[in-house]
Amino acid sequence: MLKLLRFIRPYREALGLVLALAFLQSLANLTLPRLMADIVDAGIVKGDTGHILRIGGVMLLIAVGAMVCAIATSFLSSRIATGFGRIVREKLFAHVEQFSLHEFDTFSTASLITRTTNDPMQIQQVLTMLLNMSITAPMMVIGGVILAATQDASLTWVLVAAMPVVALTFFVIMKQAIPLFQAMQVKLDKLNLILDEILGGVRVIRAFDRNAHEHRRFDVANMDVTDTAIHVNRIIAFLMPAMMLTLNLTSVAILWFGSGRVNAGEMQIGALIAFLQYAMFILWSVLMVTVMFVMLPRAAASAGRVNEVLAFTPEIVDPAAPLPAGGERGCVEFEHVTFSYPGAEEPALRDVSFSARPGEVTAIIGGTGSGKSTLVNLIPRFYDVAAGRILVDGTDVRAMPQVELRDKIGLVPQRAVLFSGTIADNIRYGKQDATDDEIERAAAIAQAMEFVSAMPLGFDSPIAQGGINVSGGQKQRLSIARALVKRPEIYIFDDSFSALDFATDARLRAALKAETATASVFIVSQRVGTIMDADRIIVLDEGRVVGIGRHEELLTACPVYREIVESQLTLQEAA
Ligand code: ADP
Ligand code: MG
Repeated sequence: MLKLLRFIRPYREALGLVLALAFLQSLANLTLPRLMADIVDAGIVKGDTGHILRIGGVMLLIAVGAMVCAIATSFLSSRIATGFGRIVREKLFAHVEQFSLHEFDTFSTASLITRTTNDPMQIQQVLTMLLNMSITAPMMVIGGVILAATQDASLTWVLVAAMPVVALTFFVIMKQAIPLFQAMQVKLDKLNLILDEILGGVRVIRAFDRNAHEHRRFDVANMDVTDTAIHVNRIIAFLMPAMMLTLNLTSVAILWFGSGRVNAGEMQIGALIAFLQYAMFILWSVLMVTVMFVMLPRAAASAGRVNEVLAFTPEIVDPAAPLPAGGERGCVEFEHVTFSYPGAEEPALRDVSFSARPGEVTAIIGGTGSGKSTLVNLIPRFYDVAAGRILVDGTDVRAMPQVELRDKIGLVPQRAVLFSGTIADNIRYGKQDATDDEIERAAAIAQAMEFVSAMPLGFDSPIAQGGINVSGGQKQRLSIARALVKRPEIYIFDDSFSALDFATDARLRAALKAETATASVFIVSQRVGTIMDADRIIVLDEGRVVGIGRHEELLTACPVYREIVESQLTLQEAA
């Protein structure tokens, strides 16, 4: 919590103002009961109307002043706290943006979302209270006790006895309620999860006729949240009456003992009234401080979760002294590269070496989970290697700025991702200042023209969020066009032709050939037909290179490759 408070720095002046205003407000409030005592004793008891009006006027002015201060304090403290929340969210977002895929694997996306939205909100709420009360509450308690004691020292023990009772009553009730609040948060998360699954998987649920089952699952979670909420509210319902009861009992006790002293002539009526008011100030402040102590642990937990993210140093950072990429454009070399995912027992890639030159097509083939995607994801430095090194244009990828490295690469990921916007927007994602001609050309090479021109709005047709209004194959072709429009030195197609039929696949590769004549191309595929004529085929098996060479060479030299080819050829022949 304290560590996070550094983000409040831009609001230093406002902060000083808030504290000063709170000070003034408390001071004003503390003078009122004394003036009241004066009105009662010197005015009402003696029948001096002039005195009543004069002091009354002063009281009115002070009360208005206190009110203005109070309004300004809460206005400013809300401004500071919301500004603080904004800064924390901004820092979190900026920090998370630098995360490598490793760190994204460590924190789940859902957790990162709550950590940037809900957690700063919790801290922000407590901060508002803290700003409002950090001056007011101690001043009211300490000043109140001193001033009450000057009214009548022997009554003060009633106050001293009442303070812990108020704090304790509140504490006992909240101690029951707090665990339930936390349980409720967990149950709410679960309800959200179920709802998310049901809404996302609605097609599967209907296809497998699991409506009733999912409905029951939702009902159970929903009921669970409801029960806890009712339970918590039942406890909280006791809070206000219990607090009022303690406050009123204290008043009664003060009046009881005070009136005895007034009767005995040891105390004036005005003093008793003032004392009663001080007592209320004090107990109310004690109550507020207790409220804050109850909220503090929750905010501290949130602060802990926020700090956890901020303290995570991204593994992949730009080098302090970046080297310029030298040599040819579009060279990729792997030198004895070994790589493991965190927590995995076996390395996903083991001792991989090869080099690819501009104008060449390097194909990567292998079974599912053999490490094909892992291999190509190392080129844009989504992860760092454990051993060995990767050179792009003769420079270690870890030695150049990430922006420069990624500028050279056009990646078509295995799972095509489109953003909401138009088709043209999505292709232009590869090159912001691409002209309409460039976009059309990229779409033509990616074999996307056919379906784009069939759409009523052509390139201006909207893509829905997540690209759900285009088919899998259309999505793939648009994401290929997006990489093509960039005209990079290195093309990476990770299983990007899998959703295309054989004829479109062949046409696309033919069109690509001219386009990529001076670039190096990586094609990951499971289909022998797609990669047969590559300059170099890398055969992966459980993260190891078991064969490397041209189609004809591998047919005789590599049993794993021959197996793949045979299984597919027999299938095709059979079909
Ligand atoms: P391919 O693309 O050849 O199907 P991948 O490169 O995606 O295979 O995966 C290779 C291996 O690495 C698999 O065993 C897979 O389970 C594992 N793997 C892939 N991605 C991750 C990840 N983000 N975290 C942990 N393990 C992963
Ligand atoms: Mg893959």
